[in-house]
Amino acid sequence: MRFDILTIFPEMFSGYFEESIIKRAVERGILDIRAHNLREWAAGKHRKVDDKPYGGGPGMVMQVEPFFKALKSLKVGGKNDRVILMSAKGKPFTQKEARRLAKYKRLILLCGRYEGVDERVVRHLADEELSIGPYVLTGGELPAMVIVDAVARMVPGVVGKAASIAEESHSEEGVTEYPQYTRPEVFEPKKGLKWRVPKILLTGDHAKVTVWRRSKMKHL
Ligand code: SAH
Repeated sequence: MRFDILTIFPEMFSGYFEESIIKRAVERGILDIRAHNLREWAAGKHRKVDDKPYGGGPGMVMQVEPFFKALKSLKVGGKNDRVILMSAKGKPFTQKEARRLAKYKRLILLCGRYEGVDERVVRHLADEELSIGPYVLTGGELPAMVIVDAVARMVPGVVGKAASIAEESHSEEGVTEYPQYTRPEVFEPKKGLKWRVPKILLTGDHAKVTVWRRSKMKHL
């Protein structure tokens, strides 16, 4: 699956995607993640991508033209492409949305900055607007990383075992995973104090473990 990210800060993406599971999936050719500098498509020697808002008001607004040119030069528009604008006003991004988006061959994520983007980007260029939560960030870069990460995990082969993504938190709406434990069986943070693993997990009785785990799953 391919991800094209349009941003004025492409370097922000290298650290995160060059580690761990995502890195391995990129190396194995399952994922192709490209962060493009929107300024490549900006006019003039200052490569300006923003301007003052019509009607007045504080701050700057990102212009439609660089986004338009970028999408054109990346040949976006096929039926397997989905253009998504990062937006605090967007539809809430959930696990269900991650599963839905993982079915596309290519996602193009548009990152806003400043006061946001010209509404013509929303109306004519983006297929949808997504928000990662009810708060305002300084830019769409963190939201794009969040969305790429959550969608990428749903792509077959990215996470080792299919079972681990089938049963985790939010795979069923509003349901979160049971508590997990690993070694040691008893942890002593200080003398006389013992933090133990629940006995039932040590019995080897799979039926009982399943019942216990179900009882510990949270229904939000
Ligand atoms: N003035 C805008 C906020 C602009 S924040 C408003 O009131 O809605 C600048 C950019 O950060 C936005 O264009 C968007 O791309 C990104 N952004 C901020 N918060 C976000 C969120 N919760 N989810 C997704 N993108 C967000």
